[in-house]
Amino acid sequence: MIGFGDAETPPTCSRAECREAAAWNVNWRNPRIHGPERVKVWLACDGHRDFLRDYLAARDFPVVVTPLGETVARVPDVESTAS
Ligand SMILES: [Zn+2]
Repeated sequence: MIGFGDAETPPTCSRAECREAAAWNVNWRNPRIHGPERVKVWLACDGHRDFLRDYLAARDFPVVVTPLGETVARVPDVESTAS
């Protein structure tokens, strides 16, 4: 067979059914079950970066988007806008 090169399989988007190469880390946390030092990471392609960020933000989860491979030590709490 031809095609087994040295290239590693690139990481792909975390969005269901998306096969695009990831370009972003979506770092998030569920404050109800995760402490502030806990960081969950989804991978996102360019097209789904905002989708995934908004998906989490809509649930009041703190979320920080960084370039692929750039990790964060923690995800800051969301500034509450509720009065
Ligand atoms: Zn995607």
